[in-house]
Amino acid sequence: MTRLVRANIAAMAGYVPGEQPKTSEAVKLNTNENPYRASEKVYAAIRHAAQTGLARYPDPVATAVRDAVARKYRIDPQSVLCGNGSDDLLTILTRTFVDSGETLRLPYPTYILYRTLAEIQGAQSELIPFRPDWSLPDEFFTGNRHLRLAFLPNPNSPSGTVISKQRILEIAENLPCPLVVDEAYAEFADEHCIDLVAKCEKLIVCRTLSKAYSLAGLRFGYLVASPHLVEQMMKVKDSYNCDALSIAAAAAAIADEDWLVENRRKILATKERLTQRMRAIGFDVPQSYANFTWNTRGDRPVKPIYEHLKQNGILVRYMDYPGWGDGLRISVGTDEQTDRCVDLIAELIEA
Ligand SMILES: *Cc1c(COP(=O)(O)O)cnc(C)c1O
Repeated sequence: MTRLVRANIAAMAGYVPGEQPKTSEAVKLNTNENPYRASEKVYAAIRHAAQTGLARYPDPVATAVRDAVARKYRIDPQSVLCGNGSDDLLTILTRTFVDSGETLRLPYPTYILYRTLAEIQGAQSELIPFRPDWSLPDEFFTGNRHLRLAFLPNPNSPSGTVISKQRILEIAENLPCPLVVDEAYAEFADEHCIDLVAKCEKLIVCRTLSKAYSLAGLRFGYLVASPHLVEQMMKVKDSYNCDALSIAAAAAAIADEDWLVENRRKILATKERLTQRMRAIGFDVPQSYANFTWNTRGDRPVKPIYEHLKQNGILVRYMDYPGWGDGLRISVGTDEQTDRCVDLIAELIEA
């Protein structure tokens, strides 16, 4: 049957998301979801939208969310584009800027979905390895004539590390193509790049409500770019890419700043505790600015640790990057979940 489909689709493996267990007993620390319940204002907004907004098509541009984002960051609503999760936005970006046979640039190791998007498009992906300290070499902004788009998650996954704002501006100014800074975890970090979009036309910032807003099941993301670029991307997106319930919920979530501040405080405290405890039992853990940590060690394989945790009902993400090495990416859960995870690892190592 594969001869019926495009050759690049037949040749690709397809993206495999982190496991979603069927039982609710499992402790899920493998896909960087937030362990806490979303703002009550989100639930109220969904109830209201369900009563009033289901018979008609939704607002094609999600004006309520564009306005909420514009207020929060004091930017032009025309510079905001909403998507059905930020994965939808990453697809729109790839389709808008990269033709088949052209090149998409990525750092390495990073979020695996970007390569899948390039493969679907029939484009090449060019990987520029991070330095061992997770900084980026100047090669990341050296042009080649096929280069059409660069993706840079900041904070990065799986490392949780960041590239400074100043360096990001330098990279964007030097690249011959747009730079997408994927800020899926920026609400947990100390700085973000949304204000740089006005300074550099080539810079695009992508956000999601899946991590910092506890809304992974809702599917909502937005990007901030020059209004000229947003206008072009509007032609590429599905007409009604965000539904009425998620538009109402996302607008309420973004407006509830107090909820965000309190959730961030809890996650960051637990992240520090996770980092310290993992270091204390012999893991190398770079300082993370996200809601997960990257845990490696040179003296023993970590895959058996992943398997031991799984047998005991705790899912973490085992990642093996050819040429770079493997490790465990552990999402920050509640204090209780996080402690249970580290206790099990400590028991196994000390046995
Ligand atoms: C989780 C994640 C996303 C996906 O966000 P969704 O809005 O859930 O699609 C995008 N980029 C990175 C780097 C992520 O970790």
